Parts: sequence; structure tokens; C-alpha cells
Amino acid sequence: MKYFILFGPPGAGKGTHAAPLEKEFNLLHISTGELLRKEIAAGTELGKQAAALIEKGDLVPDAVVEGMIANTFAANPDVKGFLLDGFPRTVQQAMDLDEMLESRDERVTGVISLMIPDEEIKTRIQGRAQIEGRADDASDEIIANRIRNYHAKTEPLIEIYKEKGLYFEVDGVGSIDEVQDRVFAAVNKLF
Ligand code: ADP
Repeated sequence: MKYFILFGPPGAGKGTHAAPLEKEFNLLHISTGELLRKEIAAGTELGKQAAALIEKGDLVPDAVVEGMIANTFAANPDVKGFLLDGFPRTVQQAMDLDEMLESRDERVTGVISLMIPDEEIKTRIQGRAQIEGRADDASDEIIANRIRNYHAKTEPLIEIYKEKGLYFEVDGVGSIDEVQDRVFAAVNKLF
């Protein structure tokens, strides 16, 4: 089975490129952000706890997202592969993912990293706030906190996956079509 990780800072376009990738390569897209927003919308206990953190631009606990990932793996034994979007986001999550996959006799196929500068992150998230109305896109302060968390907690994963030879970076600046061509080319090489 293929296990692709779609990596990048908030607002890099992971969600945008996940849908066409899912279709083209027959993968099941798992977005931890989307799963959490569903829990919030459904008003579950997990959703309530997650909302308080997400609305500040903080990460939710590793165990919470890992539980959602494990459930989705278990519920979809017959897919060709998975496209993980927004997970792993901490070094601990990356280590736990490795363990989860090892126990299935599987491994990460590759990390496709969409790279955009911090300034572009802010502009894109501010634009998305007008359209999607997400609570965590609503203020400059929250956006700045998400960017800080990305650099402090998520960026260290780049070195980890580089060392494993699994890291493939794509320039995330350009038109959606241009970036999609780059992403498809990177995934194609790993099939
Ligand atoms: P973005 O990529 O724009 O940050 P996401 O939809 O991926 O948006 O995530 C929204 C929020 O959900 C994050 O800021 C974080 O609070 C929470 N979240 C999503 N995935 C994870 C994860 N793997 N670990 C911890 N928190 C997460």
C-alpha cells in the first residue's frame, strides 16, 4: 500500500491539491484538520476539546489525531493507498506513524512538501478567511501563532524525512495548475 504525506505550512495548498491527487492516483485522502472540523460541527466531546485549541492556533494532542488516523486506516483495508494531509505534524506523530505502519508491515512512500514563504502564508490565509470563514483563519494573531507552531513543531520533520530519503519538495508558489503539475510529477516518480 502507498502512504503519501502531503506536507507544508498552513495555507500551502495541501487541501487544494489533495482532491485531484486522490482521484488521479486512487488514494484515500485523510485530512486531520477536516476530521477535527467534522467533530466540532457534530458537537462531540472530542470536538469541543479540539475547538478550544484550534481556535487559538494551537495543535491538538498527538493522541487525538493519531486515534483518528488509526481508525481511518482500520476502516479502509481495501484502498490502494492513503494521502495524509496535515499529519504527521510533530516529531512524536512521525515516530508513532512509523510504528503504526511497521505493525502493518508498511512504510511511508514519500513526503511531498509544498513550500511557500511566511508572507505568502499570511496573504493566502487572509484570503481564505473571506471564503471559508474558519475560526482559526480569523485574526492575524491566530495566523501568526499557527506559523510559529509550524516552524517550532512541524518543520523539524523535514530533516527527519530527508535523512530517510523520503523528502520531495515542490515550489508551492505559482498558479494552482502549475503547482499541481509539480505535485503530480513528484508523486508519479514514487509509483
Ligand atoms: P492548515 O493546514 O491550514 O493549518 P488544517 O485543516 O490542516 O489547516 O488544520 C487546522 C488545525 O487543526 C491546526 O491548526 C491544528 O490545530 C489542528 N490539527 C490538524 N492536524 C493536526 C495534527 N496532526 N496534530 C495536531 N493538531 C492538528
